Amino acid sequence: MRLVLLGAPGSGKGTQAKLLAAEFGLLHVAPGDIFRSEIRSGTELGRLVEGILARGELVDDATTIRLIDTRLLSEEANEGFVLDGFPRTISQAEALDRILSGRGESLDLAVALEVDEGAILKRALSRRVCSQCGKPYNLALEPPKMAGKCDDCGGELVTRKDDLESTVKERLAVYREFTEPLSAYYAEKGLLEVVSGEGEVNEVFLRIKEALRKRNLLE
Ligand code: AMP
Repeated sequence: MRLVLLGAPGSGKGTQAKLLAAEFGLLHVAPGDIFRSEIRSGTELGRLVEGILARGELVDDATTIRLIDTRLLSEEANEGFVLDGFPRTISQAEALDRILSGRGESLDLAVALEVDEGAILKRALSRRVCSQCGKPYNLALEPPKMAGKCDDCGGELVTRKDDLESTVKERLAVYREFTEPLSAYYAEKGLLEVVSGEGEVNEVFLRIKEALRKRNLLE
């Protein structure tokens, strides 16, 4: 199964992508996670993108596309993949089509998670991430067992720089300008299912599976 998850920052894409990857054995590819891990490791790519992420802007298409192209070549993508945060521009979507058709493959579905903007702002502001391993938490929806500490590695939980209120607003503006048009792009190809991203994590997951079933992507 080859899936794209669309949705504003804070719409729950990452959480749902992980559930999909685990249930269907898909490779979960999230450029935002990759960029943050490169920043933590202090690599050349990390240094290049650090300021861009902190400002809530988009990393350039060429760099992002190269990153995704490499990941999709890996053996772990044999059973398919779920892309979380890619594509974010029309030109990235076109590149994805080219990458897949070059391998005789095509996308099965783009699932757009719809969440009200007020709720998005609230979610983003209650989001924390482990400073050591990068595991995400939401203080309201998925709090850690011990306040301020990562369940997995005990690392300190911090606010992502791009979850500060001014940056969240900038990311929403960037989303509206560059990423929202992707819904029309996939709708035109008959590849779009819109799903409400409101409510409990498991409820949303059931809605996504219903959309997959409707498209005959599940037995
Ligand atoms: P995310 O974790 O998906 O919210 O992404 C965090 C940040 O990484 C974004 O605000 C961008 O700065 C950068 N980023 C993630 N995905 C992309 C993409 N497809 N194209 C350009 N920049 C991206």
